[in-house]
Amino acid sequence: MSLIVQKYGGTSVADAGCIKNVARRIARTKDEGNQVVVVASAMGDTTDELIALADQLSEKPDNRELDVLLSTGEVVTSTLLAMALHSMGYPAISLSGAQAGIRTDSTYSRARILKIEPKRVVRELEKGNIVIVAGFQGITEDMDVTTLGRGGSDTTAVALAASLGAKECQIYTDVEGVYNVDPRLVPEAKPLGEIHYEEMLELATYGAKVMHPRAVELGELFNIPILVASSFNESPGTLIHGGVAMEVRNKVRSIAHNLDIGKITVVGVPDRPGIAASIFGPLAKAGISVDTIVQNASIQGITDLTFTVFKSDLARAMEVVKPIAAQIGSSKCASDDTLGAVSIIGTGMQNTTGFAARMFNTLSEKKINIQLITTSEIRITCIISADQVKEAVRVLHHAFEIEEE
Ligand code: ASP
Ligand code: MG
Repeated sequence: MSLIVQKYGGTSVADAGCIKNVARRIARTKDEGNQVVVVASAMGDTTDELIALADQLSEKPDNRELDVLLSTGEVVTSTLLAMALHSMGYPAISLSGAQAGIRTDSTYSRARILKIEPKRVVRELEKGNIVIVAGFQGITEDMDVTTLGRGGSDTTAVALAASLGAKECQIYTDVEGVYNVDPRLVPEAKPLGEIHYEEMLELATYGAKVMHPRAVELGELFNIPILVASSFNESPGTLIHGGVAMEVRNKVRSIAHNLDIGKITVVGVPDRPGIAASIFGPLAKAGISVDTIVQNASIQGITDLTFTVFKSDLARAMEVVKPIAAQIGSSKCASDDTLGAVSIIGTGMQNTTGFAARMFNTLSEKKINIQLITTSEIRITCIISADQVKEAVRVLHHAFEIEEE
């Protein structure tokens, strides 16, 4: 008998009808002779609605209370799913994250899973139950409820799959898998049959919203195959795993884009040891994650430092950086929130020449100005004006012929 973990996203359980549909899919998996653990997301936009409600009552809702509030969304879905399964004659039990043994640190609203003690889950499976775990939440050593950050149910699912030794983690959503390019921008976009963890991690980090990057990382770490598929039809979906041949396909596999970019430039900083640390240390402390960092070669001991953050963190990042910039003698500190990023991704790019040149040529032919460039071994990202991102995605899709699998 195999153990399968299935996670259902918010749109897949948006109302009673959707929950019935999901219950039928779970029942089928059970009928096929599997043990089934289900991770449920909050129904539809519940999490956003709960946040809006809290915002009406407090200017700055207390972190601890907010996490308990948000965790209820997932609890609602898991109980309703259990009831739907009961009425179809299937034994099922819902568990909160705490009951399922998901232990986290105490960073409210973006807690990290420290370990999972799945005794209760295992016991219920042994009794023949379908076990439904409320996603996106855990509990601290002091028994306080935490949440794992927006989109965190994916992480719950993969972490549970790893700790239970599941055969596969299935992520069900409202799209047919992982697309090679955003289908809203390029109508011929297709879901990929399979993708390597590393490519998926780049894709999730640099724009594709379909899976949470932390969940992909966990999948790779514990070698759990992850299937991303639709809960609304029977299309095969995309399998994320480590066995995809890395070098045979000498090509770009997918294109990601992202409009959530804020840029900060600190002009005229002295080029001496400790300056970067004095800026990025306090940013890290404020919980602001920095992506691209570029420092120019210095002229007469003076240089410029440019970096990007999430747009939503831009104002806070400026508050942190401005006083430091003044202290170290910078002449100006400027921000820009009109940017976007477009990335080409593929493990076949490793140690192969020509990809960067083709990308830059393609963009220049369309008079798209590149402001910053970053790369990994399997990714090239160009930061450009936000209003040219759509066009960039389309021309790159064409230039790299990513349709032809
Ligand atoms: N309900 C949470 C959110 O909307 C977690 C999740 O859906 O994964 O972010
Ligand atoms: Mg959600």
